[in-house]
Amino acid sequence: MPGSVKTEAVVLRTLRYGEADRILHLYTPQRGRVSAIAKGVRRAKTRFGGRLEPYFRLHMVLYEGRSELLTVTSADTIAGHPQLRENGPALDSAARACDAVARLFETADPHPGVFALLCSELALLDVGAGGGRSHATHANQLAFRLKLLLAAGLAPQLAACAACGEAEHLSAFSGAAGGVVCAACEATGFMLGEEAHTFMTGALGAPLADVPAAGELALRQAERAIAETVEHHGHVRWRAAFPAGGRRL
Ligand SMILES: [Zn+2]
Repeated sequence: MPGSVKTEAVVLRTLRYGEADRILHLYTPQRGRVSAIAKGVRRAKTRFGGRLEPYFRLHMVLYEGRSELLTVTSADTIAGHPQLRENGPALDSAARACDAVARLFETADPHPGVFALLCSELALLDVGAGGGRSHATHANQLAFRLKLLLAAGLAPQLAACAACGEAEHLSAFSGAAGGVVCAACEATGFMLGEEAHTFMTGALGAPLADVPAAGELALRQAERAIAETVEHHGHVRWRAAFPAGGRRL
């Protein structure tokens, strides 16, 4: 049933198409990931201005015909995140965040919480890039991913051994078991230090703006735990959460 769809959307990525068109991968609150074509958008004069770019949050009207690909009818900016665009680390973090959403939430299932989380992350990166405290950090990106896992119903078990239920001596992490494991069960996992465990628990419980600090070793362990969780239970692979070798800000 052809018709118009009004929705908010974040532009996850764009692809050139033909001579003047562009395909947009969008994330929406009620329709999950949507692909849409913007016709004529690469010509000099276009009614869309420069709005159909990655990391824009928009009010959109999309025309839905018989094809899976919707057509952009109109787009109005809610947040363009101009400061983020001028800042390399913030742009890199935004790209990784959008990619993580696109891979784990690739269907039309509605996840309004994921949409809200992505909007918060982009807004934080924008404020940080404009001279506020930078959120383009490894810790922030891992916290964002933990919250995505939570929204997907895949949050790792952190309070007790995921294999036997033991509450003490939680010394390792097993992606297959789905969380931390105790000393008796640790053969199924890899060593997860107390700092990494504390970071993960704290990051899941705190708002994105208040992600706890942790050392680089702990963050690397947390990233491995998160990566194994999403591979075992979400059946997707995420890009590294942070540029290789870390980054000085
Ligand atoms: Zn155990």
